[in-house]
Order: sequence, then structure tokens, then C-alpha cells
Amino acid sequence: MTAVQGGPRRLARDLVEAPEWDCQGIAIHPGIALQSRKRLEWQNQPRGLYRVIDHTCCCQAVVYELIRVGGIYQVHKVIQSDPPEHTYTGGWRGDEARYWWMRILTGSAR
Ligand SMILES: [Zn+2]
Repeated sequence: MTAVQGGPRRLARDLVEAPEWDCQGIAIHPGIALQSRKRLEWQNQPRGLYRVIDHTCCCQAVVYELIRVGGIYQVHKVIQSDPPEHTYTGGWRGDEARYWWMRILTGSAR
């Protein structure tokens, strides 16, 4: 995707490489971050090897994955820049993880 020269402003998606696949509208597209959002602490490493439980759509510049690390859950955030930036938050039980995952999706926590 190429940004238009002299355009009023560039969209975030113009700053990253275009995905090599088309959006099929199946995976979740998160809402915009709310002004009043809870700011989560993000770390550079997950707490261990993980399995992806759920994920948002990879057509977006930022992709979130709900991951399971042993018996706990975290959220993996990927900024699809070059190179991509990976950060991780949480360390929740199942019910807490569902709560925070939903808040991240709705933009009330990021
Ligand atoms: Zn999409």
C-alpha cells in the first residue's frame, strides 16, 4: 500500500507492510481505544511457551492474541511494523482473562 504524497495525513495502515492476504471479515476487528481506557503494562517476553486461544484480524496494523501459557492466560500484542514489535500483558486465570480480553477488544483497556 502506498501513501499518497502530499495527502493530509497517513493512515496507520499505510505505515506498515500490506498483508499478503485479504480480510475475510471473519476474525474480530477491535474497537478504537477509548480515552478513558485502563493502561495495561506490557512486557517484552511471554511467561513461557504458549498456545493461541483467540486472535483479532491480521488485516489490522495491530493484532492481539489471547494466549495460554501453562495454566494462565496472557495477551500478545503485535504491531505489524518492519520488524514487528511483540509485547505481552497479563497472567490471568480463565475468568479474569475473558474479562480483560473483552476489555482489550472493546478499547476500554490497552
Ligand atoms: Zn480484517
